[in-house]
Formats: sequence, C-alpha cells, structure tokens
Amino acid sequence: MRVILLGPPGSGKGTQADLIRQNYGFPKISTGDLLRKEVEAGTELGKKVNQEMKAGQLVSDDLVLKLVENRISLADCQSGYVLDGFPRTLNQARLLEKLESKRRETVFEFRVSEQEILRRLSGRMVCLQCGAVYNISNNKPQNDGLCDFCGSKLVVREDDRPEVIRERIRLYLETIAPLVEYYSSKKVLFEINGDDVTENIFKSIKAVLDRQLTQAGEH
Ligand SMILES: [Zn+2]
Repeated sequence: MRVILLGPPGSGKGTQADLIRQNYGFPKISTGDLLRKEVEAGTELGKKVNQEMKAGQLVSDDLVLKLVENRISLADCQSGYVLDGFPRTLNQARLLEKLESKRRETVFEFRVSEQEILRRLSGRMVCLQCGAVYNISNNKPQNDGLCDFCGSKLVVREDDRPEVIRERIRLYLETIAPLVEYYSSKKVLFEINGDDVTENIFKSIKAVLDRQLTQAGEH
C-alpha cells in the first residue's frame, strides 16, 4: 500500500502520518528529510542535489524520484509506506506509478479552511535559541513570550505571519489542483475534513485504509 497525503501547511498531515505508522507500521517518507540527509551524507546524489539547490533551482523530478526509489526499496517499506510532501507534480505522480505499478495507492486530500490554518499557524512562536515551538492556543509558554527551557524571547517566524500563510495556501492550492484531479479520476482519492480534531481525522483515515487493505487481501 502506498499512502499519499496531500494537504496545505498546518493541515496536520504530519501528525496523521505518525499515527498511520504507529497503527500500520508504514514508515513516513518525507522528501524534505530525504534531501537533507543525502546532502549531509555527501553522496554522489547528495552532491547533485546540493548543486541544484545552490543554483536556486527546484530539485529536479529525476533526482527526487531516485531518492524515493532508494528509500522505498528498503525492507521496512515492503507492506506499505506513507509519502508526505511527494508527489508535488503530475509528472512526479506518473513517474512514481511507473516505478511501482503493482502497488495499491490511497490518496488523502486534507481540506482545511483558511481560517483554521491561520488559527493553527499564526499562534505559533519559536525559540531561536533552542528551537522549542509553542502555540498560543494549545501549548503556551509558562511566562508570556519567554522560552520555558532557556528563557529566551520567543518570536513569530516570517513563514507564520498571516499574509505569508495566505500566500502559501494560495500556492499550495494552485500546485495541488492537477494532482487532485488526476487521483480523483483514478478513484483513489479520499477527502478528509482537516478542520476536525486529530482523533476524528485519524478515524476517517483508518476506516478507508482498513477497507482498502481488506479488499487487497494485504491485511
Ligand atoms: Zn529556548
């Protein structure tokens, strides 16, 4: 089973990927992490990735796909895996399918209202000193504006400012539209109400996955 999570920033798909891993043993594969690790390890592939990133280009589909291919060939991916942040383009989606044409695919599209995303992300504050993350709505620091761990002043990241969040949402929707249409026409797309709380979202995901796995006889 290949599980693909499509969702805007603040949709909580990372949390759901963790829950899927806990319940089904499918590892979470984030292409961002793969890229970082490869560059850090200084492999041939990592050097190429680094060159492209330094040149200010988006890393090419071929390189990202090679990384994904290497990762999903590992033993822990045999019964399934969850992709977070990939594919991002129709081309990537098609290449991925070619790579593993027999694997069943389930795609979840997290629909989250702009209002909810703003609520979740704009309350976020980070400590630049030690990296701790806080949230006004559910994870406040003990002293207003100060880090619990090191006492440094907390800041709102540039990325978490409302006008930047709105632009990130707009870009996301524009990018994702062709993918949604593609997976929807293949009848492997399931819409998820991302405004809901974590437990309920996972319940919906679990219901779909259980059904798919039973049909596939993989369970
Ligand atoms: Zn701190």
